[in-house]
Amino acid sequence: MTKRIVLASNNENKAREIGQLLAGHRLEVLPQSAFAVPEAEETGLTFVENAILKARNASARTGLPAIADDSGLEVDALKGRPGIHSARYAGPEATDADNNRRLLADLEAVADEARTARFQCLMVYLRHAEDPTPLICQGTWEGLILREPRGENGFGYDPLFLIPELGRTAAELPAEEKNALSHRGQALRCLIHKLS
Ligand code: IMP
Repeated sequence: MTKRIVLASNNENKAREIGQLLAGHRLEVLPQSAFAVPEAEETGLTFVENAILKARNASARTGLPAIADDSGLEVDALKGRPGIHSARYAGPEATDADNNRRLLADLEAVADEARTARFQCLMVYLRHAEDPTPLICQGTWEGLILREPRGENGFGYDPLFLIPELGRTAAELPAEEKNALSHRGQALRCLIHKLS
């Protein structure tokens, strides 16, 4: 039987990637926008807390099990920032381009070899809004921050995120290749395994 699940995200880029990764699995994942679920307040101090807050909000509003992803970029030279603040690094209304500009400005004085960074993704599944034992998976993707953007695919910090082994940025990878390697792909494959 196909399981119906609400996806606790209004980020279309994430939803697209998650949809691609779930294709072929017996899971019907419906965006929370289909139920007019209002955004949860992300008051947690960690990715996992925020993922649970988002999933609990969507599950409580829909009565369905929920999946949520909280993700972001950790830059070593910035002591882990932007981290949980990745989406709004350059301000409350920041676009991806604004965030990328701020990141480049913050790293201007940092040498190439010290520009190490990683994407983190915490993916959780709540069976119901009061589920005391959520399924939790984490994915991590290591890279380097370039000095200028490259590539048109993906979203967010992808054009600045170089995968050294490939010599390409995340924005230069076709969708399937990004999904095969990315923090989100890793976390979602782990969750699918736990769900089956
Ligand atoms: P969230 O919606 O609060 O989890 O914010 C995630 C933010 O982290 C996004 O808005 C991006 O800025 C960044 N981010 C997360 N995953 C990716 C990715 O796969 N590529 C590029 N940026 C990402």
